Amino acid sequence: MTETAAAPGLLDGSYDLVRAAEDLAARLPQPMAPFARIAYNYLWSWTPGGRELFAAIDPVRWERANCNPVRLLLESSAATLERVASDAQLMGQADAVLATIEADRARPPMQGRASAAHPVAFLCAEFAVHTSLPIYAGGLGVLAGDILKEASDLAVPMVAVGLLYRQGYFIQRMDRTGYQHEYWMPLDPDRVPAALVRNSAAEPLTVSVPLRGRQLVVQVWRVQVGRVPLFLLDADRPENSRIDRWITARLYESDRGIRLAQYALLGIGSMRVLDAMGMDPAIVHLNEGHAALAPLELARRDIAAGADRYTAFAAARERTVFTTHTPVAAGNEGYDVAEIAEVMGDFPGEIGMDFDSFLQLGRTRPENLHEPFVMTPLGIKMSRAANGVSRRHGEVARQMWQPLFPERPVDTVPIGHVTNGVHLTTWMVAPMRALLDRHLEPGWVTRAADPQTWAPVDNIPDEELWALRCRLRGEFVEYVRDRSVATRLARSEEREMVAAAERGFSADSLTIGFARRLATYKRLYLITLEPHRVAQLISNLERPMQLILAGKAHPNDEEGKRSAQGVFTFKELAHAAERVAFLDNYDLGIASQLVAGCDLWVNLPRPPLEASGTSGMKSVLNGGLNLSVLDGWWTEAYDGANGWAISGDAVYDNHVQDSRDAAALYDLLEHEVAPLFYTRGSDGVPHDWVRRIKRSLRTNGPRFTATRMVHDYIDSAYLLASAAAE
Ligand SMILES: *Cc1c(COP(=O)(O)O)cnc(C)c1O
Repeated sequence: MTETAAAPGLLDGSYDLVRAAEDLAARLPQPMAPFARIAYNYLWSWTPGGRELFAAIDPVRWERANCNPVRLLLESSAATLERVASDAQLMGQADAVLATIEADRARPPMQGRASAAHPVAFLCAEFAVHTSLPIYAGGLGVLAGDILKEASDLAVPMVAVGLLYRQGYFIQRMDRTGYQHEYWMPLDPDRVPAALVRNSAAEPLTVSVPLRGRQLVVQVWRVQVGRVPLFLLDADRPENSRIDRWITARLYESDRGIRLAQYALLGIGSMRVLDAMGMDPAIVHLNEGHAALAPLELARRDIAAGADRYTAFAAARERTVFTTHTPVAAGNEGYDVAEIAEVMGDFPGEIGMDFDSFLQLGRTRPENLHEPFVMTPLGIKMSRAANGVSRRHGEVARQMWQPLFPERPVDTVPIGHVTNGVHLTTWMVAPMRALLDRHLEPGWVTRAADPQTWAPVDNIPDEELWALRCRLRGEFVEYVRDRSVATRLARSEEREMVAAAERGFSADSLTIGFARRLATYKRLYLITLEPHRVAQLISNLERPMQLILAGKAHPNDEEGKRSAQGVFTFKELAHAAERVAFLDNYDLGIASQLVAGCDLWVNLPRPPLEASGTSGMKSVLNGGLNLSVLDGWWTEAYDGANGWAISGDAVYDNHVQDSRDAAALYDLLEHEVAPLFYTRGSDGVPHDWVRRIKRSLRTNGPRFTATRMVHDYIDSAYLLASAAAE
């Protein structure tokens, strides 16, 4: 398949990463070599002291470089670098971080079915590993990034494959009316911690993928996420036509044909690239349907080697596990016959199928010629195990896909659930981590999935926890001021609006966050459904509230875009200019500020359309409280005293449901949330509020970390342990 197939040894790009770090080191003063090595493994981003190490080089340039250590080191002045090189303390810290990274790599892998040559291959269209690598859009990518980091922490032999989008996802700018505008920035792979994988002849390793009746040639970049390599396929090769190079230009590209080609590339190309690097996955984990052609490529290989189709398909299924994230029909995009024919070309023939039988694989009712081809049914049919991402989503998915199993009642449809979780050391801010380090048992982070670990939270003095919350809120308010002055200026707001951002927002006010994709079902518009009630809440002088919003709509989602405009009409309300802010361009960086600084995290999905949701879990880890519709993860989390809930019953009439849920939101804010926050003891501490934070940490901490989630995947899907016992 490639010129390199016969080359000796594992050509997996690990040497290329070492070379890239050496090249970078060669441009730095000699003693700074450890910085270059640290820069090429994202483990620094969740190692205590890692961020501080780079920020200390030049805090302003660090921000400007989007917290990208490769850019920081390349762009720092000679004088800065010389200063660092002669700073013994900083050099000592660098040695310590590097030692952590090296010790991490030296740990033995988890034993079982998977191994370095037969890893778990985790496939996803987007990965949110770090803000400096903008190849993600939202929750799916964040989850994928968190899974890689946790798999690394647990020493699971995992490799990940995605696409290197040369323009990433769009950058959002809102205009004065709250209408979203988009632009794209080129991503220079030589200025991110990635290395082009080369073959034994030192040429870029390439594979070809049959797409659109041609052979698309792709190269592959390696990014190191702790122990886990992330391989990113890249169609920007001279062999390809200009249009074909565009296939890996933009995440969730608007052109349907290109999007379908991306998915086909991810499914087929990922398997070919791993093969070219000498890896034969024990497990292929399809994280969402995009990569669902991967098991067919595994089958194709067996068929080419002489196996019959039945045996080849059964073997492919045996290795594949599938996670669905979409309880919305529209999220399960369908392609018609012409679109599939255009992209797939001869591929069906190579797996011994005529085109019509191939189409049937992507249908719920195979014989229905009018049903489009959807990746989700294909993924479910071609996998050994399938799961939704929360208990409730598992139920919804069983119902939704029951027609695939006409002989089975809904309850027995073979789709389970693994509830999402978040990577603790990524999402818990350093001061919170320090507080828990003081009060929990040493090594608690590695036992975060054990409820016992969190028990000592109850003994933290209220004043101490409250002081921390006040500190985080205060820092966040400074950040909001910075951001909103800048964005209001950029939007050409009235001078009064800009001034309001500068003097507005308070370090002591109840701070409410609502940030998520601006998809209609997330119902941002509920917040403004009854403006007079909102006006009352916002302008209350004794119990003020401030509301910080963020989120992107997909460029083609007009309805989603309009939903943001409602909150921009807010600025006419008294006090809103000083108490309501929309932060442009929601991304990992903004998310970590929001989930650390907000007292209350609000989520208003139309049930049952929230598969899981994860931002609320991030808020939990930083001592925020959740107020959410009982949907997704919150159905499992809410116990009556660890946050607040709005009924999750689905009402047939959307308008009725909207007004009911909006009223519930305003009532809770007015009668429960604000009184609890503002009722202070003689010591100034809201003891009942703090009690609720402790309960939230104690009950939700163990259940919604990625540690629990990845263990669930190991037990239910990867079977690493059971194979070890054989
Ligand atoms: C966590 C996160 C999300 C997902 O949040 P939901 O609660 O699932 O809406 C989306 N975008 C960013 C940047 C995040 O950090």
